[in-house]
Amino acid sequence: MNTVILKSGKEHSVLRRHPWIFTGAVGKVEGDPANGETVRILDSKKNSLGLGTWSGVSSIAVRIWSFDPDETIDAAFFQRKIAAAYELRKTIFNRALPEAFRLVYAESDGLPGVIADLYRDYAVVQLSTAGADHFRDEIAGALLPYAPGGIYERSDVDGRKREGLEPVKGLLRGGPLPEKIDFTENGLRFQCDAVSGHKTGFYLDQRINRAVVSSEMTAGAEVLNCFCYTGGFGLAALQGGAGKVINVDSSEPALEQARLHAGLNGFSGDRFQTVCADVFQYLRRCRDAARSFDVIILDPPKFADTISQREKAARGYKDLNLLALKLLKPGGKLFTFSCSGAMDDELFAKVIASAAQDAQADFRVVRKLMQGPDHAVSANFPEGHYLKGICGILAGRG
Ligand code: SAH
Repeated sequence: MNTVILKSGKEHSVLRRHPWIFTGAVGKVEGDPANGETVRILDSKKNSLGLGTWSGVSSIAVRIWSFDPDETIDAAFFQRKIAAAYELRKTIFNRALPEAFRLVYAESDGLPGVIADLYRDYAVVQLSTAGADHFRDEIAGALLPYAPGGIYERSDVDGRKREGLEPVKGLLRGGPLPEKIDFTENGLRFQCDAVSGHKTGFYLDQRINRAVVSSEMTAGAEVLNCFCYTGGFGLAALQGGAGKVINVDSSEPALEQARLHAGLNGFSGDRFQTVCADVFQYLRRCRDAARSFDVIILDPPKFADTISQREKAARGYKDLNLLALKLLKPGGKLFTFSCSGAMDDELFAKVIASAAQDAQADFRVVRKLMQGPDHAVSANFPEGHYLKGICGILAGRG
């Protein structure tokens, strides 16, 4: 087998079970591994550290499959890993698995580059690294028992470019898939459009936060749901007793699905309104028209992909939250999120504090939120924690 020998001192992160080896840590490569091929990892004294997947393209040269040097990376390996991921979800959900949840969360489940979301009997997968791509068949085979209806691949993710891989999309096993997969979340009916929806078709990571929005809702509240996508938070707000929700997104297809979702749950167009607009512009228009809201939800797309974009992203989050805080009624609630991994908890909290200061808002943080428990983060891989949320109340102004 091809072998990667680390530079002296570069074994420490591997010994702490962090699954990435950057190019700068590689001392020598023995053999000529192709992208995606399995390599043996040795420290500078030739002690075996485990097995990983080689990429000659990415800045992450090796992603570790196993810290056990005696492991074999084959179909049985993926079967064991995916079975363990399923068992973990059963524990997380106390044996009451929801109809839709993340079954495999990449590095955190010991499977770098592999994401699999289950929507009832169907799985939607993303294979984002050369190693995951290499073992496509083994991974699909291991997922099939949990997704007897079929497996659809949505490997049309940006990360693949960095690995020198082309986007891949299409049915992987079983099927055919229904045009839209119906499922319920927190008692609400939704549909997953696996083929053309975002990510795997739905933002499953916000599941418990939608339940929080529902439970924190003030009866009759007027809610502004920004970056609404297919309306998940808006419906949660109505479920919790909101009077009316204005759902804003720049994608008309997302809004069309949002309206379908409202209909499926018996909410009329009066209570569930949609606006196709740029959120920043819409918030400014509301400010100019002196409008105000009881509850505002901000769930923007990722503003920063890398640490280098962090400053610019922080300014974006600040502008957004400042605008929103100005539109909030006294006693009103803000639910604000960032799904940029490059923004850590501390920086996000600082950005919100700074927006509150500029808005002359006495803003009280009542809850900190994160991605749902099916996206559990391995303690060895803090990078897996990407979704942060703050729920707070505008206690007063000035
Ligand atoms: N809250 C959603 C997920 C939001 S994803 C849920 O719970 O399902 C981010 C959304 O922001 C996408 O739907 C995207 O179309 C939208 N978007 C991105 N940039 C935008 C902008 N500048 N103005 C309005 N919507 C935007």
